[in-house]
This record gives sequence, C-alpha cells and structure tokens, in this order.
Amino acid sequence: MTASKSIIAAPLPTHAMGPVPSRVSEELRAAAADEERGDQPIARSIDLLREADLLADDGTSDPARTARGLMQVGAANLSVGRLWEGHINALRLIHLYGTGALKTEVIRRVAKGALLGVWGADGEVPVTRNGSDGHLNGRKSFASGLGTVTYAVVTVNSGPDVRLALVDVTDTDRADPSTWNMQGMQATASGNYDFTGLPADRIEWIGAPGDYLQEPHFVGGVWRIAALQAGAAAGLLDVAATQLRAAGRMQAEAQKTRLMSVLMRVWAGMALTERAAGATTDRQIAPDDIVATSIAARLVTEEVGLSAIGAVEQSIGLRHFEASSETGRMARDLSVYLRQAARDAFLQRAAQTALGEDGRIWGGFG
Ligand SMILES: Cc1cc2nc3c(=O)[nH]c(=O)nc-3n(C[C@H](O)[C@H](O)[C@H](O)COP(=O)(O)OP(=O)(O)OC[C@H]3O[C@@H](n4cnc5c(N)ncnc54)[C@H](O)[C@@H]3O)c2cc1C
Repeated sequence: MTASKSIIAAPLPTHAMGPVPSRVSEELRAAAADEERGDQPIARSIDLLREADLLADDGTSDPARTARGLMQVGAANLSVGRLWEGHINALRLIHLYGTGALKTEVIRRVAKGALLGVWGADGEVPVTRNGSDGHLNGRKSFASGLGTVTYAVVTVNSGPDVRLALVDVTDTDRADPSTWNMQGMQATASGNYDFTGLPADRIEWIGAPGDYLQEPHFVGGVWRIAALQAGAAAGLLDVAATQLRAAGRMQAEAQKTRLMSVLMRVWAGMALTERAAGATTDRQIAPDDIVATSIAARLVTEEVGLSAIGAVEQSIGLRHFEASSETGRMARDLSVYLRQAARDAFLQRAAQTALGEDGRIWGGFG
C-alpha cells in the first residue's frame, strides 16, 4: 500500500520538508512487514538511509530538519527510525565528549559502513568496569540493532560515575536477540548483549564520568523520540485513511471526525517537537527550559500516539487485528515504542520547571 505523504506534509511549508526522499520512504514502508517476520534483514533499509546521506549528521546542523526526517522515517518504518535515532544519538555523544581523534575515526567508520547505537539500559547485572585490569562485566538489555549495529556507545557504571564507552558489538556469541520477545518492534532485535570479560584494550572511552547526564543534551534530547512517535502516529493515520478510502468508508462523517480530531493533535505534537528540536541550538533558551520542552514533546506525542491507535482500531474495525494487517503491525510497533523510560518522573520534572517555585510557564516560548 502506498500511503500519501500529505499527512506529514500538510502543516509544513514546502521549504520545510524533511530530508528523506519520498522514494526512500516508500521503500522503507514496503520493507517493514518482511523485516518484522525476519524475512529481510533491516540492514538493507539502513543502507537506504546511508545512500541518501542521512547517516553522517548528528542532528545538530539543523535539528528541526532532523526532527522532520525522523517523523518521515517513523511514519514509514518505525523500527528503522528507532535504529536511525540511536545512530544519531551516538554520533551526538561522540561529537560532544569524544576526542578529536575519535571523532575523525568514527566519521571514517560510518563512511565505511558502520552503524552506531546507544545501549544504556542495564540487564540484571549492570555493566561495570573491573578495577584490577579494567575489563567490563555485566549485560545490557533492550539493546537495539543486535546483528546490525556495529559500534555501541555503552554506559558503564551508573549515577554520577556513569561513563561512556565505544565498543565493537559485532560478536554474535555475546548477543541474545531471543530476549526481545515483544508484540511490536520485532525488527529492531533489541535483546541482551553480554560484555562480561571484555578486555580494556577493546574499549574506547568517551569523555569524563558524568558527561552523559549533562543537560540540555541528555533528557533535552528526547525530542528525537517524540519525532518518531509523532511520525509513526501520522503514518498510521495515513495508511488507515488510504484503506478506508479504498473500501469506500471514508465518506462517513463519523470516520472523518474521529480521525481528524486525532490528526490535529498529531500536527500539534509535531510542531512542539520541532520547537523542542530547534530550542537545543538557541542560546537564548535556558537548559531547564530546553529539557522541559523536550519532555513535553515526548509526552504529548505519547498521548497522541495512544489516541491514534484507538481511533484506527475503531475506524478499521476487526480487520485491523488480522495477522497480515498493515495498520495492525504499525499500531503494534507504535504501542511498544511509546513505552519509553520514566514517563511520570519526566512529567514531574517538566512541571517543576514550568509551575514550581520560580516557575516559567513560557519556558522556551517567551
Ligand atoms: C523499541 C525499543 C527499543 C529500545 N532500544 C533501546 C536501546 O537501544 N538502548 C537502550 O538503552 N534502551 C532501549 N530501549 C529501552 C528504553 O531505554 C527504556 O529502558 C524502556 O523503554 C523503558 O520503558 P518502561 O515503560 O519499562 O519504562 P519505566 O521507566 O520502567 O517506566 C514504566 C512505568 O513505571 C514508572 N516508574 C518508573 N520508575 C519508577 C519508580 N522509581 N517509582 C514509581 N514508578 C516508576 C514509570 O513512570 C512508568 O509509568 C528501547 C525501548 C524500546 C521500546
């Protein structure tokens, strides 16, 4: 099914379209079902991004444009979008905290075919550095891109002692994709990776302890997640509308009202996400306000994502739940991807900035 790009394009002036050619979006969309079943490696879709020159940028040259790119890819193929987001995040961390030599080396590796990721979520035994000879112990969970990501930025230790390590993660004996047994986002292969016994000479350190948590780069970066969520919600509505038109069911006012009510909120989420992305390079905006705006974007797009899933279920009806349903797969992926870390704590943090003592309701908008 070829969905039109109108739903994403509508609120944007033409000069503000995203960087992803429509041909690439269409190929990503066409590959998604095979990638979910494991019939086609997701690496082929990553190659499409590479060929479109989308893997060299860490998202800072024009963050709002990067946000639109993530929306475009999120609309077409959310699993590919999730891997691209991890790559952008890793590049950003290396550019922020890595040595000049490491930055040059990573740019060279990416040009030669590397894909990066950021693996922060610890398994039952967290990843730590062994004091005696500096080898690593422990395991990461939810490590996206097993078998596809070649170098991961890994968090080592936790709290203020957290350090970032760049590690070659192509050792398949250490990867366990079977632990990623989720109803959606299957194609991301986000399972466990065991770092136990990894020797010190295989680790390239990035920055100093605690750098990873520096704001506005840490929580202030969740606009990238928001962009994928908003794009995936728009993509889901777009495919649903295309199917309803084909079935002659789009004339019903009830369908239009239900879907349009959600689409308006998706557009609002996109606008807030672009604002949050643009704020990261605006020196007039305080770091706390950048963080609060980014959180707001992530939580608004979570809400509209949930609404989009509900509206599409009601509009398509039971066929949405057939195993081969395109909207069903997109909704499964989105509902899994919406589950991101610490939503309630993030809401409290944004509320404290906007409404607490010294609160600034206008935040990044004043
Ligand atoms: C598709 C996908 C790919 C991913 N890929 C990666 C990856 O490559 N690398 C990586 O590091 N991670 C990855 N993750 C994991 C991600 O970083 C988060 O760890 C994960 O999404 C957490 O989701 P959660 O809903 O379980 O969050 P949680 O933070 O556990 O939140 C669940 C609920 O518990 C509440 N809660 C949390 N803490 C507390 C508390 N202390 N007290 C009371 N309530 C609490 C929250 O507010 C929320 O309501 C991925 C996740 C997804 C969905």
